[in-house]
Amino acid sequence: MSHRVFIALGSNLGDRRAYYRQALERIAGLPATVIVRQSSQYETQPLGEARNWYLNGVIEIQTGLAAEALLGRLQAIEHALGRVRSTVRWASRTLDLDILFFDAALIDTPRLRVPHPELHKRRFVLEPLCELAPALCHPRLGRTVAELLAELDDEKQVIKLATERR
Ligand code: ATP
Ligand code: CA
Ligand code: CA
Repeated sequence: MSHRVFIALGSNLGDRRAYYRQALERIAGLPATVIVRQSSQYETQPLGEARNWYLNGVIEIQTGLAAEALLGRLQAIEHALGRVRSTVRWASRTLDLDILFFDAALIDTPRLRVPHPELHKRRFVLEPLCELAPALCHPRLGRTVAELLAELDDEKQVIKLATERR
């Protein structure tokens, strides 16, 4: 069975564009997985103590992988692209891959929470997500992505970058 999944990408360490591009290539190479669409890329002000700005964006994929298996694959990609686990929350990283939505599933395990518990509080997630799926309904909050963005109170700066020529 194929699942419709939205993934947030973020990088704020090293060659951010290269990590972002390589993450897309590796996700596209996962078994039974295709990238359906990708948002623009954004430069965003970091959370927590980190000083480097992020390159952020969201992609929509179709995948035959189950949610836990997908999480494991995404963590392996983070690791392969140089992510070092830190005990500091929101420490700088070469790559962060978060599962935002997995169909309309509600998942609440120690390893995996879906929808991502912070997504509705983050402009750097909602702006790119809204490019792809404004009418998508958050299965826990019962609000669309466009409504969540309109109601958002997040002062962090999020700057849309011009689309790259491919
Ligand atoms: P935040 O989750 O607030 O964005 P973060 O991305 O910096 O913070 P990480 O250190 O990347 O947090 O991940 C911590 C743990 O979160 C991971 O080990 C993973 O098991 C768990 N996790 C829970 N739900 C999700 C999800 N929806 N997507 C990705 N990881 C998740
Ligand atoms: Ca994250
Ligand atoms: Ca993460």
